[in-house]
Order: sequence, then C-alpha cells, then structure tokens
Amino acid sequence: MNENTIVSRCDASSCRFNQDQKCTAGQIEVSMNAEKAECLTYSAKSDANTTQPSAKQ
Ligand code: SF4
Repeated sequence: MNENTIVSRCDASSCRFNQDQKCTAGQIEVSMNAEKAECLTYSAKSDANTTQPSAKQ
C-alpha cells in the first residue's frame, strides 16, 4: 500500500502533513462545492498561524 495519499501536490505548506508539497496523511477528507475544494484533514503546524487554505477548481 502506498504510504502517501493520492494527492499529487498540495500547496498548503502550513499543514503538518505537508512535506515538500506532498501529503503524508494516511487518508484525507475533502469538501467540494461548485467553486472550490477544501481539505478537511488540514491541520496547522504548531508554529503556523494561518487559516485553512482552499483550492479553486
Ligand atoms: S492533509 Fe490536506 S492540506 Fe494537509 S497536506 Fe494533505 S492534502 Fe494538503
């Protein structure tokens, strides 16, 4: 089994699961609506002070 999720690239560098733009979370949950996708698994690094990022389709 692949140790990374199928996320090919993630720009959320403030997420604790992001290592060199690769997602290391075992699995993720994504919320989709008409204009954007939002990762619900996002978890800010303890030293980050940012809001959850979102991506437009
Ligand atoms: S958990 Fe979500 S926000 Fe964090 S690195 Fe993975 S895809 Fe990106």
